[in-house]
Amino acid sequence: MSFFRKNVEAMVPYVPGEQPKPGSKVIKLNTNENPYPPSRRVSEAISSELAHGGDRLRLYSDPVAFDFRSAASEVTGFPVDGILAGNGSDELLALIVRAVVEPGETIAYPYPSYVLYETLAHAQGAPVRAVDFPRDFSLPGELFGVDARLVFVTTPNSPSGTSYAASELERLARSVPNALVVVDEAYADFADENALELARTIPNVVVLRTLSKSYSLAGMRLGLLFGAPAVVAGIAKVKDSYNLDRLALVAGAAALRDGAAMRESVAKIRKTRERLTRGLAGLGFEVLPSSANFVFARLDSTPRARDTYVALRQRGILVRYFDRPLLDDGLRITVGTDDEITALLAALGELR
Ligand code: PMP
Repeated sequence: MSFFRKNVEAMVPYVPGEQPKPGSKVIKLNTNENPYPPSRRVSEAISSELAHGGDRLRLYSDPVAFDFRSAASEVTGFPVDGILAGNGSDELLALIVRAVVEPGETIAYPYPSYVLYETLAHAQGAPVRAVDFPRDFSLPGELFGVDARLVFVTTPNSPSGTSYAASELERLARSVPNALVVVDEAYADFADENALELARTIPNVVVLRTLSKSYSLAGMRLGLLFGAPAVVAGIAKVKDSYNLDRLALVAGAAALRDGAAMRESVAKIRKTRERLTRGLAGLGFEVLPSSANFVFARLDSTPRARDTYVALRQRGILVRYFDRPLLDDGLRITVGTDDEITALLAALGELR
């Protein structure tokens, strides 16, 4: 006897990238974290929130995250009532699905992309229309005009690193006027262009951002959704009141208000990304052009990609291998520090 709904019974749980035990000596290039620390102002803000023996922790956090959203408004020029704060963008993705999709309504997205979309669809009992990307990861034509309630599109896409022009995303949104189009921009700060403006001008578009990558705050769980105030209000109806804790809220506001620190780490990562791309190409990998803080590098066969992943792991270097169609001949490698990338390229050179 099972207590679970049929679709939950049948679903395969999402498996996040491996997190080694604290203190283990590995080079961790598998979950797209930022290798540099966050702005100094973040720890200062957390310390001051903990003043007087943590007395403020007695009180609930701000249910509408007003100061954090105000900081996001200052940075983007977006109105505060068009911004929703989430416990990571993962929470925002789940809230959107819960608020928008009736069981039985379709969720569409290009494949391969962020694996969580499939998990959320299955949990909701929503059929999935996953449209295969072509080999060059340009946006698949079949997505335009697709019959769905919700369309996810990730730019820059994970795990390919490829990005899509705002004009193309606008064309996509206009081709599906009855669907909500979620432009997941988790990695946008590493790209030359973004589509935030569409969330202001096109009523069926929302844009998601996270502080996990460019702001080095994956451990604080901070995400932002931008959209029309009416859409934001609808999604907010299904969120928990206190979805972000006090420490996360002050950390997020401090990080957003120190854009210089974020831009400095992004500039370093972009420079290392270039060196990594050139180094991998020199070793015979086919590297997709990346606008993110990771690259997807293909080998000439599935066994070679899998063996390389295993061999790197044995040497204490973790990268991401996806045993899935269209991905199983490649490795997704997070851009680490320069020293980490030097060590990775040296190991790959020896394995050749
Ligand atoms: N979207 C994409 C495309 C991602 O790769 C990730 C990170 N795994 C997320 C959303 C979730 O980010 P967060 O840490 O804000 O939940």
